[in-house]
Amino acid sequence: MDSVLGNVRQNEDVLENDRAQPEFTRTFAGYYPTRVNDRRVSRGRELLDQHEQLLISIQHDTGVPPHYVLAFWGLETNYGGYLGNYSVPDSLATLACDSRRSDYFSGELMNALRIIERGDVAAADMKGSWAGAMGNVQFMPSAYLKHAVDADGDGKRDLWGSTTDALASAGRFLEALGWQRGLRWGREVSLPEDFDFSRVGESQPLHVWTEMGVTSTAGAALPPLENEAKILLPAGHDGPAFITYHNFNVIMGWNRSEYYALTVGRLADRIAGAGRLARAIPDGPKKWPLATVRRLQEVLAERGFAPGSADGFFGPATRKALAAFQASLGQVADGYPHPATLDALGIQPE
Ligand code: CA
Repeated sequence: MDSVLGNVRQNEDVLENDRAQPEFTRTFAGYYPTRVNDRRVSRGRELLDQHEQLLISIQHDTGVPPHYVLAFWGLETNYGGYLGNYSVPDSLATLACDSRRSDYFSGELMNALRIIERGDVAAADMKGSWAGAMGNVQFMPSAYLKHAVDADGDGKRDLWGSTTDALASAGRFLEALGWQRGLRWGREVSLPEDFDFSRVGESQPLHVWTEMGVTSTAGAALPPLENEAKILLPAGHDGPAFITYHNFNVIMGWNRSEYYALTVGRLADRIAGAGRLARAIPDGPKKWPLATVRRLQEVLAERGFAPGSADGFFGPATRKALAAFQASLGQVADGYPHPATLDALGIQPE
């Protein structure tokens, strides 16, 4: 405590980042292509060869296959290309002394001290994102304490300098989140012509979707799994359709974002040899102004559809309310804010 907290400094830059109000929310068209691209896929395939033995042993211990571990690594830090250069003790102490999320960051600061005390890393070397996420797979101190492992056996859990420790720790974290061995995250699918789009986002046993005519993109029957599954259309009915299984929810335990989880799953598939999406993401806005989404939520609420709170973020409740509105007009009820839908709500698309 004395040696670390005696030396921490308030970092104004951290406070600025924490208080910055986003003005836009990304669309899938603005999110996916910058994260899953040919360069990142081919780098992932090189690393799959390079770390084959390690990745196979991680799969043996945790059940998480090599291509998924690589996908997390690729998305979190571009395979270790950028680990973050903020002093984590400074960041966490700054946020702990700020009123906004003091309890959470006070806890994370104490966890960081425990990591330093254990001898895993010196305080001066504990670098990370402005919010305190650390190392190759960007663990917060609480995840570090619970899930990081010393897989290379040098006595330290080193998530910065040891790829072995970092990737094994990612596997352990996913195992603890409930990763189901031998199963995929989900996949891109084809929907039948008469698909009832109001069912998007609903959780149903896989056979229910199969009976409705959902198939692989090649038109083949989906392997029958004992699994709850959802259909997601992140770019609307004229974009790619995905079916998601239990392990998709596990990925969301790491980062509570459907876009993130779809992106991990797809990057993993591509590293393992899959091609690009069978159905391209349609041209459309790369981001939505939060003000527009908020307006959309307000108008839906005024008209008696329940879109959740008007927070400007396009989540499942907003999608469902928008789909109900579209159905009431006889539009395709995919819950996606197409120009015609916005027009019917009296909202100017920007
Ligand atoms: Ca180690």
